[in-house]
Amino acid sequence: MNTEQVRVRFAPSPTGDFHVGGARTALFNYLFAHHHSGKFILRIEDTDQKRFNPDAMGWLTNGLSYLGLDWDEGPGKGGEFGPYVQSERLNIYNEHIQILLDKGFAYRCFCTPERLEQVREEHKANKVDIGYDRHCRNLSNDESIKRAEAGEAFTVRIKLPLDGNTTVTDAIRGDIVFDYGRLQDSVLIKADGIPTYHFANVVDDHLMKISHIMRGDEWVNSLPLHMYLYQCFGWEPPILAHLPIILNPSGKGKMSKRAQRAPDGSEYPVFVRQFEGAGYLSDALVNFMALLGWSFDDKTEEMTRDELIQRFSLDRISSSPAAWNYEKLNAMNGDYLRQLPNEDLVSRIEPFLTSAGFDYTQDRLLKLIPLVKERMTTLSDSVNQLDIFLVEDLKPYDVTLLLPKKTTAGETASLLKAVHPALEISEFTQEKIEEMLRRLVSELDVKAGQLFQPIRVAVCGRKAAPPLFETLEALGKTWSLNRIGNAITLLES
Ligand code: GLU
Repeated sequence: MNTEQVRVRFAPSPTGDFHVGGARTALFNYLFAHHHSGKFILRIEDTDQKRFNPDAMGWLTNGLSYLGLDWDEGPGKGGEFGPYVQSERLNIYNEHIQILLDKGFAYRCFCTPERLEQVREEHKANKVDIGYDRHCRNLSNDESIKRAEAGEAFTVRIKLPLDGNTTVTDAIRGDIVFDYGRLQDSVLIKADGIPTYHFANVVDDHLMKISHIMRGDEWVNSLPLHMYLYQCFGWEPPILAHLPIILNPSGKGKMSKRAQRAPDGSEYPVFVRQFEGAGYLSDALVNFMALLGWSFDDKTEEMTRDELIQRFSLDRISSSPAAWNYEKLNAMNGDYLRQLPNEDLVSRIEPFLTSAGFDYTQDRLLKLIPLVKERMTTLSDSVNQLDIFLVEDLKPYDVTLLLPKKTTAGETASLLKAVHPALEISEFTQEKIEEMLRRLVSELDVKAGQLFQPIRVAVCGRKAAPPLFETLEALGKTWSLNRIGNAITLLES
């Protein structure tokens, strides 16, 4: 560790949407920083201009703020070690590449793209896998400088040892041995003067005094190059921890970067803004993601953010992959949602109801929410749960839903006709409604279900609905009786 204080960074490349894989990496860094009262730094690695996506920054910063993963230093926040966007640090990389060139740890490569392509083709034909043939590695310093000054295009490459091994220690995976003989002299600075990820990443981690690197597993193979760069500069590398990959729910393959289709045609979210849009609570998503590759004690699942911070540690990160599990997330989200005070829940569902075009008042929602929250998984479920209370006309439903087993439409219609006079009560409360309907059941000498099922379907348009008597009270007499009337018409048609 090159500093006393814990300083970690999340270093996304703005090339696309903010995927939950990246969000999990950000979260682990955030939890670790807060656990150690350290700093969580956001650094934008935008050196790959070809893959730059102008929307990516918005998706990223909105996603981080939805998740509550606020950064201490970085874009919009400033800090002692800025700028925090790599494209604004080109002079720094230039100064640093010069050090490596001067020391002979790097060399200019004047090979044209055409020549490199030809080498690649030849290697492919001969089935060898050695990459660049190191054609420019032994140019004299004088010639290299002369050609550069004459304006010839060049890249700068690392001059890696040609053989031998290097051992890198990863806090999660332990010691990993790499064979230099299998590595290439990778490009550090591209022909346009822009550094590659590898070079900018190492320089910045050192200059920003990063103490621990926690990042995705896909970077493990870059370790020997990165460690060699630290060695060339004479810098002490940060502690490394490569996080286990996240698998698809099937357990097969890395979690997809495209929204997944469910059997019913709906889409499973994979990007942070899709989870937000679907009405997942960020605390639930954070709790769920914290358990993707980390655990507290193999049994505790629900933890508040403070508990996660208190308990988070590197040594409980697993080296085996973790599969995303929508059922588990949904169950957790439902639990979190039910723990919210009704006022809070109401204010969170309002945007969903507004965009569905519903009319409502907060008071009305406060009365309705206890009826439906048991059945809600996400905030957006409020739309499908509350529509029957907020929109006068029910959506068309299948008439057979009105019919309890072994009954005919005619029988059910005549039962429903008896409901009308029974509910002509001035006090339309759940208790009174229950009393009247139970009395009716015994008068008609039927089983409760034979009467209650058609009433439930008549007023809700579906069988799965909140408790009947409360529902009727919440709907009010006019809507309830009108809907029962409509059901009778439907049965008779
Ligand atoms: N820019 C890299 C990425 O988006 C960061 C890798 C790292 O954290 O070193 O994956």
